Amino acid sequence: MLKTNWHTHTKRCGHAKGTDEEYVLEAIAAGVKTLGFSDHACYKEPDPGLRMNYDQYDDYKQSILALKEKYKDQINIYLGMEVEYYPDQWEDLSRYRKELDYCILGQHKLSFHGKSVYRVDCEEDFRSYVDMVELACDRGLCDYIAHPDVLMFRYPVVDGTAIETAERLADISNRYQMPVELNCGSGVIYGKHQFDDCIRYGYPVRQFFEVFAKKKCPVIIGLDIHDPKNFRTDIYIDRALSVIEGLGCNIIDDYDLPAAAAERKKLFR
Ligand SMILES: [Zn+2]
Ligand SMILES: [Zn+2]
Repeated sequence: MLKTNWHTHTKRCGHAKGTDEEYVLEAIAAGVKTLGFSDHACYKEPDPGLRMNYDQYDDYKQSILALKEKYKDQINIYLGMEVEYYPDQWEDLSRYRKELDYCILGQHKLSFHGKSVYRVDCEEDFRSYVDMVELACDRGLCDYIAHPDVLMFRYPVVDGTAIETAERLADISNRYQMPVELNCGSGVIYGKHQFDDCIRYGYPVRQFFEVFAKKKCPVIIGLDIHDPKNFRTDIYIDRALSVIEGLGCNIIDDYDLPAAAAERKKLFR
C-alpha cells in the first residue's frame, strides 16, 4: 500500500461509499501515513451524482478538519479538492484555492456545460482539454494533474492525436513542475477491454507514460479512492503499475504537496 495518497473522495460526491472516518481508519490500518481528501469541487449549479452540493462544502471542511485533529497522532490529514478549470466558476475556485491545503486538477468536462472528457472524439476536443490543463497550471489553480490521460477512457485508438496530447501534457508538467498522476481509479477498476487497436485499461495508457518517462515528468500515484475498503487491497495499484512497467517513470513518493501548494498559491491569479 502507498504511504501517501492525495486523491480521496467522500460520499458527498454521490458516487462514493462510507463515512469520512472510515476512510481515515482504513487508511491507518493500511499503513498510510499521509492522507489528502480531495472530493469533487462543488459549484453553485448542482451536479447530483458527480459532486457534493454547494451547501455541503462547510460540512466537508469541518468533518475533515475534526478528523485531522482526532487522529493527528496516527496519520497526517490534509484538506484539498479535485477541481476543474472552469473560468465561469472562478469565484468559487478562488475560494477553494485560498481555503484548502491543496487542489488537484481533475478536468471532467471541456467546459462547465460542455462535453464530458469521457466522450471526446476529435482532435479539437483533445486540444481544448490540454488548453484547459495549461491554463489551470498557468493561473496556479492546481498542484497535480489527476488522470491526465482520462480522455482515453473510451477513445478507440492511441493515435497521433493522443500522442500529441501526451507530448503537450508532458511539456506542461515540466514547465510548471506539475506532477502527473498514475491513477488507480475507474480506469483500472473496470478492467481491461477491447479497443480498436488493442486490449487495455481505459486509463492509465502506457503510451502517455512512455512520453512522460521520456521527458522525465514527475509522476504521483493516486488511488482516486471512492470506497474506504479499497485501502485494504493493492490490486488496483498493481494494475496501474503494470501499465507503466519497464518505462522508468520518475515516480515521486515523497513529494511535499502542501508545501508546493503554499508556493503556488502565491502565484494564484
Ligand atoms: Zn469521483
Ligand atoms: Zn477523483
